Amino acid sequence: MVEAGAHKIFPVKPLPAFAEQVRAQLKEHNQPELIRELRHEAIARTEEFDILCEVSIDPSKRPEQDFAPCPMCQPNKFIRGRLCYFPRLNCCAIIGHCCADKKQRDSAEHRFREASNRNWQEDFLLEALPLIPRKLEVIAATRGKAVEALRLHKKFRKDAHRLMQLLREISKNHGGRLQVQFEVESKAAVNERVTSGRFERLVDMNDYGVLSGLTALRANYDPVLELNDIESVLRVIEVGVESEFVMNYIIAMDVKHREWTYTVLNDIDSRRWRNFTLKLDDFCSFFDSENLVRLARWGEDSKNRNQVYVVDRMLNMGVRQVELYGAGSRTALSPGPQLSIPIPAWPELPKRRSGVRAG
Ligand SMILES: [Zn+2]
Repeated sequence: MVEAGAHKIFPVKPLPAFAEQVRAQLKEHNQPELIRELRHEAIARTEEFDILCEVSIDPSKRPEQDFAPCPMCQPNKFIRGRLCYFPRLNCCAIIGHCCADKKQRDSAEHRFREASNRNWQEDFLLEALPLIPRKLEVIAATRGKAVEALRLHKKFRKDAHRLMQLLREISKNHGGRLQVQFEVESKAAVNERVTSGRFERLVDMNDYGVLSGLTALRANYDPVLELNDIESVLRVIEVGVESEFVMNYIIAMDVKHREWTYTVLNDIDSRRWRNFTLKLDDFCSFFDSENLVRLARWGEDSKNRNQVYVVDRMLNMGVRQVELYGAGSRTALSPGPQLSIPIPAWPELPKRRSGVRAG
């Protein structure tokens, strides 16, 4: 045990480096009572404090395999605790997780959560904001593909919405598979069941595989609108890549602005961009040659009640034409070269380092 009154005086709240240093010592010996900088004499349960970080003690690594002593509620002991700063006493100490008076604890926990949250979001923005100009470049490089997909979808729907609807229902009813069900010859069925005197339907099925590109068959699909929505959010937030400028921008943010920016950027990275690209790639896969071959084989199966015809051919000058007939409607679509442009990789944040977060 360190002698009484030997702890370090902190006229102001110590910087995060101090908490890291205490955690490093604890990791070594699991004995807060050996850390000279900390106060070990009794502290009143009503004393006001700020949480610097959470700590935990492993009793199996202590000399007597016991819990650690707590200055706030001696002789009680703890495993989970917190390094705290006591502004009135100008000192730091590690106390048990729930030792302090409830009122003091609640307000300290609230401040700690807010500060951790702010640090977390500021770190995120510091890395995420400079990526925005590159994201806008990716959006610009993808625009031609989205415009072409929208053009094809509009024409498909205008010419042949009944065929779209038929194919939507077919793939919905068979888990995305192109199948034709038909009754096998009734003679065989009757012979087998002759004694029971009851006619039983026997059904067989031809299966042509999965129809890709259901996005192309949606009643509503507007990839350009989706792209514009993402772009307009990024344009509002964009501040360039110059690090001092980015830093000043973040420091000047109020809580609401910071929370909003963090939330929308995170949402674009974790959900919206991915949904946009998955749908656009799925749309394009409808026009893959193998997919159209599957659709044609299914559609022209003589036992199929929903006859569908597909003609996929090259016209002059390398222009492709996909003709689709079915459900009393017809369309001819000519996918332009923009549709095959690959979508560039979305600039990703580096893996987050594990910071000190509020529990
Ligand atoms: Zn305690």
